[in-house]
Amino acid sequence: MTLNNKFLILLLLIPLGCSTPDQSIELPFIDTSSHASVITSQSHIIGTSVQGRPIECHTLGHGSPTILFLAGIHGDEAAGVPLLHRLHQELLDDPSLLHDRRVVIAPNTNPDAVAHNRRTNMRGVDINRNFPARNHRSHTRHGEQPLSEPESRALFDLINLEQPSVIVTLHQPIACVDYDGPARELAQHISDLSGLPVRKLGARPGSLGSWAGVDQQIAVITLELPGQASHITDEILWQTYGPALLSAICD
Ligand SMILES: [Zn+2]
Repeated sequence: MTLNNKFLILLLLIPLGCSTPDQSIELPFIDTSSHASVITSQSHIIGTSVQGRPIECHTLGHGSPTILFLAGIHGDEAAGVPLLHRLHQELLDDPSLLHDRRVVIAPNTNPDAVAHNRRTNMRGVDINRNFPARNHRSHTRHGEQPLSEPESRALFDLINLEQPSVIVTLHQPIACVDYDGPARELAQHISDLSGLPVRKLGARPGSLGSWAGVDQQIAVITLELPGQASHITDEILWQTYGPALLSAICD
């Protein structure tokens, strides 16, 4: 818990999942400053991986619309994981960066794959091919049916619960800004700030972009960091790509 004269941050770990927000607990706060704002940050376990690792998400603020950040769907493209942990910390330290919006951050959506530095989950399924998109194709590596995997079900439930207007999902190593759904202008803005070109890679079968972007018409940004992003310090990573992430909140 962080407390200063302006902000109270209540950090709660609620292992009941985002799908049961009514059971969340917000502690009462006695304000000791004359112009205090109250920012609530909560941490939830939204699911459990094949090997039993918790899939965590952090929610900040009560504003609207909601912007959702995801990383680690492909576990061998993990530079986004520390980047989103840093984004969370920056927003805690300076809640004005929220611009009165609600931000949801799931920094490690495929924790087994990140732990083992592999693309697929531990059942050999690519989580980013396992969403119930109209273009889902049954395949061993896509899952026999959509949402066959606990990691994809956790994200599906989170998105349905939070109804984000923007999703930013971090991948590697193509070094570009891809987008699906109504996100062309935001993609260009993120390109300007990150130095990565806008590039349409095409909607892959059963991908998050296909389901949430193409089918649901949510603005989905797939930020493909370069492979080299895995070999730079967290500080340089933040300096290089942090402004682009923050712009997705206030754009
Ligand atoms: Zn990827």
